[in-house]
Amino acid sequence: MVSQNELLAMAERYLLQTYARPAFVLERGSGVELFDMTGRRYLDFVAGIAVNAFGYADPAMLQVISEQAAQLIHTSNLYHTAPAIELAQALAEASFADRVFFCNSGAEAVEGALKFARKAARERYGEGRPGILAFEGSFHGRTMGALAATSREKYRKPFEPVMPGVRFAPYNDLLAAEQAFGADLCAVIVEPIQGEGGLRSASPAFLRGLRELCDRHGALLIFDEIQCGLGRTGRLWAHEESGVTPDIMVLAKPLGGGLPIGAILLTEAVAQHIHVGDHGSTFAGSPLVCAVALAAFHRLSDPVFLAHVREVGDYLTEQLEGLREELPQQVLEHRGRGLMQGLRLTIPAAEVQARAMDRGLLVATAGEDILRMVPPLIVEKEHIDEALSILRQALV
Ligand SMILES: *Cc1c(COP(=O)(O)O)cnc(C)c1O
Repeated sequence: MVSQNELLAMAERYLLQTYARPAFVLERGSGVELFDMTGRRYLDFVAGIAVNAFGYADPAMLQVISEQAAQLIHTSNLYHTAPAIELAQALAEASFADRVFFCNSGAEAVEGALKFARKAARERYGEGRPGILAFEGSFHGRTMGALAATSREKYRKPFEPVMPGVRFAPYNDLLAAEQAFGADLCAVIVEPIQGEGGLRSASPAFLRGLRELCDRHGALLIFDEIQCGLGRTGRLWAHEESGVTPDIMVLAKPLGGGLPIGAILLTEAVAQHIHVGDHGSTFAGSPLVCAVALAAFHRLSDPVFLAHVREVGDYLTEQLEGLREELPQQVLEHRGRGLMQGLRLTIPAAEVQARAMDRGLLVATAGEDILRMVPPLIVEKEHIDEALSILRQALV
């Protein structure tokens, strides 16, 4: 058996160093707990970056994986298989959408959405409308198109030229969005709650205003619910409370129950401009990943499950608000809702993250000064109590 220390040395030698990973190797998980190779336990408030909604070793997910894997894993999109069709129906019937395209990740979903928006604009209006409006603080992924719509220069600059045609306006500022609008725009892309960008929520008025601007100018409204969607806020969709629906919505993170999948949801008005041969993917929508995603979606959209997320989410809000009042020297602001919450700190978030890790709690960051918590949606109040007690120690 290779030891943890040997593996860490091998990782340093062989892995491309694109992540600053901590010095342990995760071996197994159960519920909201992870264990490294030395048997150390971690309470997990990261959930594979808002992916593992049901935590680890969930029996129902394991059963679907093994049953479907024994039947069919992959066929390519040259052929129909039942899980993809049933998943598309489930997503469409639970949303504004009429049709669904499957892909393999969040960035790929964003790429496809931008392609579909450009194609629809070209068919409706002819040339001259390639423009995309995105927002400051946005994160849409690491591929050349999704990266072009990602505001943080640190991610984007080293790889320029990225896809041309994107401009940015301040988030939650409708007047600025109106000023940034023009006849060259085919789409506006926005996260109803920004994830990487610091857990800021779009106001319902902002989303409504964007809807109006898009309608007035004939542009499409794209919601990126890759992180905030699918139950994370205690509602199936984070945009629900705004009463606004988009023309296109992209999903990914928790959809595959831990397996990689992305989805692009579209209205028929957009879909009618996308034809055979316009887009594709070898791996996307495989029977294995779609069968697991279908089981995951049934659970994520269950009203009882969503009520649990709201209940523990409200509890987390209370506790974090309490912490902010208790430690004003360290905590400036509490952000987010449901099980997507964070604290803006006066000290570097990475330092607090490291101190929490030493005490057995995994949390994420969002930028330099924001500590981000996106635990499995099955988390219970007792886990929140434990996390808060560790966090309190890590902050002082
Ligand atoms: C994670 C994320 C993406 C990118 O997804 P990947 O699967 O990492 O490509 C895009 N948008 C949002 C809002 C995200 O949180």
